Amino acid sequence: MKRLEKIYEGKSKNIHTTEDPDLLIQYFKDDASAFNGIKKGEIVDKGIVNNHVSAAIFKFLEGKGIKTHMVKELNDREMLVKKLDIILVEVVLRNVVAGSLAKRMGRPEGETLKNPILEFYYKNDDLGDPMINEYHIREFGLATDDEIEMLCEKGLKINQLLWDYFKERKIRLVDFKLEFGRHKGEILLGDEISPDGCRLWHWDTNEKMDKDRFRFDLGQVKEKYEEVYHMICG
Ligand code: 5GP
Repeated sequence: MKRLEKIYEGKSKNIHTTEDPDLLIQYFKDDASAFNGIKKGEIVDKGIVNNHVSAAIFKFLEGKGIKTHMVKELNDREMLVKKLDIILVEVVLRNVVAGSLAKRMGRPEGETLKNPILEFYYKNDDLGDPMINEYHIREFGLATDDEIEMLCEKGLKINQLLWDYFKERKIRLVDFKLEFGRHKGEILLGDEISPDGCRLWHWDTNEKMDKDRFRFDLGQVKEKYEEVYHMICG
């Protein structure tokens, strides 16, 4: 399957059509951005890491009954996916206090939560992805009641599965972002699951192994992404 027309140029991925109208190719780039595009840079080979890590995680989740948009990995940087009608709601799951939660609630980073926290954000770059709740989602028609219920159910289930998956690989899954889309009457997990959209800390040392290294100039960005790759993909 070959890339045809580029229909979307994202911050870290491009989306291309294929000869099958139901299938698209996600092309993973090395471009990195943070703080809603204010900070820009490049992490060499990030696209390769994110493609392989996402594919391994999607495969694991499929095996546990979570349907994803992935059809297959085509090569180092390309993933063949089903075309989704994207739900414009980002679902964030948190197990440990960090990032915007630490700021919003005035809690110390690293505090383990008694129960996971699920949050919704409106997927809208122009507005900087503001936090919303189910009332906003319903009122502005972003998803139906049934879909909201499914986002919560699937989000929490994925979090439970991935917490154990990462723990077995000596990684603490601090928090992460999910995106879903509609496909032939089903809700599928879309986008990617990689160090770009997850906070991943080494289980023993709590060393950050994710995009926070780029966001806050912590150094060894490429090295830590590659370490995650080896811990996940062997
Ligand atoms: P926070 O709200 O603390 O900034 O982010 C929570 C988690 O969701 C982090 O793991 C972060 O990487 C992820 N996340 C939130 N919004 C986005 C986004 O727009 N893009 C990506 N790649 N990750 C996001």
